[in-house]
Amino acid sequence: TPVWAQRNDGPEEGNFPKVRIGSNECWTGPFPVAQAAAAKIVSHANFYHPGTEVTDFKKTLATIEGVPVDHVLPWPGSSDPLSRIVVAFCSPQKGLVTADVSYEQPWGTAEWAGAKVTKVPLTPDYRHDVKAMLAANPDAGLYYICSPNNPTGTLTPVADIEWLVANKPAGSIVLVDEAYLHFSHGQSAAPLVAQGKDVIVLRTFSKLFGMAGMRLGATIARPDLHGRMMRYDGKRMSTNLPLPSVVCGTVALTQKALIEQRRAEMIAARDFTFAHLTKRGVKFIPSDANMFMVDWGKPAAGVQAQFLAAGVGIGRNWAPWPTMSRVTVGSMADMQAFCAALDKIMV
Ligand code: PLP
Repeated sequence: TPVWAQRNDGPEEGNFPKVRIGSNECWTGPFPVAQAAAAKIVSHANFYHPGTEVTDFKKTLATIEGVPVDHVLPWPGSSDPLSRIVVAFCSPQKGLVTADVSYEQPWGTAEWAGAKVTKVPLTPDYRHDVKAMLAANPDAGLYYICSPNNPTGTLTPVADIEWLVANKPAGSIVLVDEAYLHFSHGQSAAPLVAQGKDVIVLRTFSKLFGMAGMRLGATIARPDLHGRMMRYDGKRMSTNLPLPSVVCGTVALTQKALIEQRRAEMIAARDFTFAHLTKRGVKFIPSDANMFMVDWGKPAAGVQAQFLAAGVGIGRNWAPWPTMSRVTVGSMADMQAFCAALDKIMV
């Protein structure tokens, strides 16, 4: 069975519970100022490029990350570039090295490409074990680092990523998936791109920016690495973007105070939940992002079903940890509902 078919992602479309804390989405939509900009461009969306929207997006992200403009490429979400990166840099001769547990999408693509997938356990404190990752396959095509990691929410220090970049074989690529970075206080690996290293940074607007349904992501990398991801569609990606999302994302990126405010809101809801779990004696893995793993000490699938029956959709478990569920940090009201359901289930 392919990796993607083994996942239990919860309820099907249209059949969602009242409280949705299962898929690491944001509890609220894009910042109002970004929504307004997106709405304004809709009436000009008859054009592929009404103006300089795509360039403005690239310039904005490049300025924030300190890289040249030609090192930024927007995408409709980050799932598509993630698969392309695997296809570009993995093959039957060049494998993928990933942490376990981590986000599994690249595994499935690597399997499709006939590439060997090497899974390396996280460190005891749930970081990527970069030395063990290199030792496990010293000649891989791609080393995948998800930081903060999905599903543990834990950060891998940039110093560890730097070590991997300095010691990896020539020609292999380190992919740093920073989907959850804005929810943490972690540092980006983008400065490594600015230094010309073999690093690709992957970003999405589906998380803190509240744009999962609008499909916007970006890669930050040297143009030659981007070129290898674009072998079959050349430069046409810029006409393959949801324009209102590009405009929305551009405005969102510049909202420093709103980003911090949203992050603080999430941390307050997470602290509230952790305090409740501690009080109840339920084990969990401390997290730097908008998700965490809870250990029920019994099969997680059954507990997930109990929560669902109580109107709270929590996340799935990962194969190596059958007694743990991933829970997304929603609004304070969502987390209060989660704690209330927990109290009901645990009596
Ligand atoms: N990377 C990670 C680590 C994720 O968790 C997700 C989605 O949950 C993605 C990439 C893909 O997200 P999207 O295609 O919405 O950008």
